Amino acid sequence: MFDKQPYIGRFAPSPSGPLHFGSLYTALASFLQARSKQGLWLLRIDDLDIPRNIKGAADSILKTLDIFGLHWDQSVFYQSQLVDIYQEVLDELFKENLIYPCTCSRKILTDIYSGRCREKHGEPQNPYAYRLKTDSRVISFNDELQGLISYNLATHGDFILKRKDHIIAYQFAVVIDDNRQQINHVVRGYDLLEATPRQIYLQQILGFDTPRYMHVPVIIDEQGYKLSKQTLATAVDLKNPSKIIYEVLTLLKQNPPTELQQAPVTEMLNWGIKHWDPILLKSCRSISRLSNPTELNVAM
Ligand code: GLU
Ligand code: ZN
Repeated sequence: MFDKQPYIGRFAPSPSGPLHFGSLYTALASFLQARSKQGLWLLRIDDLDIPRNIKGAADSILKTLDIFGLHWDQSVFYQSQLVDIYQEVLDELFKENLIYPCTCSRKILTDIYSGRCREKHGEPQNPYAYRLKTDSRVISFNDELQGLISYNLATHGDFILKRKDHIIAYQFAVVIDDNRQQINHVVRGYDLLEATPRQIYLQQILGFDTPRYMHVPVIIDEQGYKLSKQTLATAVDLKNPSKIIYEVLTLLKQNPPTELQQAPVTEMLNWGIKHWDPILLKSCRSISRLSNPTELNVAM
């Protein structure tokens, strides 16, 4: 059937360090998905969390993607360049009585916020965050790899849209920006699966369309930890991009032919686009990168 809406996907790294193997894995999955649908692949730098930003990381990420042949469409979108819009939407939500100031310190909070500041009146004297009022409705979506996912919003309770340090929270920014960039397909790591229902709830409140979601496995190390900047995952090696792309294609379970091993990056990516079959990753949550990358250890 003719699909009226062109595919618009994105990759949205945070500039909290150089691109590591785990992010390259997600980047390639989202790139292949977009390109195999003749879609657009946009790049957004999620740089609102100022204390976590590392100087030079954004440029280093762009350079790395370029070396790996992952060329994006349109100009790079920086969240930090358009901060006013978040505040405008926040003011709107406040007027509608959907958010409220919360002065609670992290210490007195357990995992789920009880909503103890909900009924307070007036502007607090102490620094405060803004939380969104939630209830115990169930939000479901059909993930393209993980199947039907249902979460009760009460799992996370009233969540923060703007932090005490005035920083716009990830959950809020991502929803506004995916809408602003007209993203209709989100491909990202399994670690963000449980954030999705909160994002869908926000989309519903704001009257935005919900994109389709595909949560791909995260790469874990030999100890079973997710590769991330927090676990000090090192930057990807730029000396031999072909070798790395081949390894990523393998870990994406695409079974690249051995002959391709010596091919230049562009040729490898073209092969990847042509043969891209994400269903091979169905229900897969994590994949470990062993010292011998030909040995795959797949956790379901
Ligand atoms: N910026 C987020 C991260 O680096 C990803 C945002 C997203 O894909 O929704 O983990
Ligand atoms: Zn509170």
